[in-house]
Amino acid sequence: MRGPAVQPKPLDARALAALAANPGCRRRALLDGAGVDKTALADALGAPSAFGQSQFALVRGNSFEARVKADGGAELLRLVHERLDPAAAPPGSAAVPDLSAVGPEGRTARTALALREATGTGTWALLDHPMLALDVAGSVAFLEPDAVVVHPDGSWTVVEIKSFPMLDGSADAAKVGAAARQAAVYVLALERVAAQLDPAPEVRHRVLLVCPKDFSNLPAASAVDVRKQRAVTRRQLERLTRIEEIADTLPEGTCFAPDLPPEELTAAVEAIPATYAPECLAACELAFHCRARSRGEGAVTSLGRSLRAELGGLTTVDEVLAAAHGRAGDPDDPAVAALRRASALRAEALGGAPC
Ligand code: SF4
Repeated sequence: MRGPAVQPKPLDARALAALAANPGCRRRALLDGAGVDKTALADALGAPSAFGQSQFALVRGNSFEARVKADGGAELLRLVHERLDPAAAPPGSAAVPDLSAVGPEGRTARTALALREATGTGTWALLDHPMLALDVAGSVAFLEPDAVVVHPDGSWTVVEIKSFPMLDGSADAAKVGAAARQAAVYVLALERVAAQLDPAPEVRHRVLLVCPKDFSNLPAASAVDVRKQRAVTRRQLERLTRIEEIADTLPEGTCFAPDLPPEELTAAVEAIPATYAPECLAACELAFHCRARSRGEGAVTSLGRSLRAELGGLTTVDEVLAAAHGRAGDPDDPAVAALRRASALRAEALGGAPC
């Protein structure tokens, strides 16, 4: 489906968190499951995506992460000890196992072995960029958290290192929320590894978020409780339709190679049902394409999910207007009754006939 010469784009925690935020969207589920590069696809459709990190932000983020993890992760472990486990013995020298192996499967196995070896030693261990696997709608996603720390009591903590600043101890709530949803995906994947051990170690539901302090290059850390995000993400990922089931509904030979003519690509993309909502603008590369289609169809979801929920069975703007003007709709339907009342009030306020 990606096209014969196109390398698969692996699913990462950010994509999984976005997928879980819109589990009803079969389009995203299939494209992500098939490893389609949605940024290239959006470009080819003539609706380039608006997000993605700039090169400058990437370089700055990498240099901050290297600083946080310098000296065998001494500063990082100090922050984990201070914020999450102050009763434990301070981390002097911690184990930093070598996690290199061939391919994602090899790295996943190496990570599981390192976690097993570090657990129960009664000391601190830092796993730098471990690899975890999570089964999502029938395909395996390989995930790479910034770090996982093993505590002396054998419990495990996910560490997320971000380049947005923490000002006076707090950071942008939307960015913290996105980081928490991403960390929740790592927690779920770590729980799968823990379940293989006997006794299963505790995967802590408070993760450590590390950010630059007040625009400096010094690290500041905060413990973030991801229980809610973990529960929501788990439920949503379980609800995803299996990729094969979606693929079976498509015409034979459907392909999303970005070098195909735009009309052919558009037809292929439109063959998969989507559930656009304004939230897509901050989470999906295809948002501009789907928004234009959704608006073109007059779908009320393009105005927001909460409005869509309040309108019940009225799914298009035309249906809503017809119901408000008394041309259609069951007057006993609470949504229709509310629309007619609103229309009458508006007319009264404007001193004219309902419009
Ligand atoms: S932008 Fe389109 S493909 Fe992406 S999640 Fe929204 S509706 Fe689905």
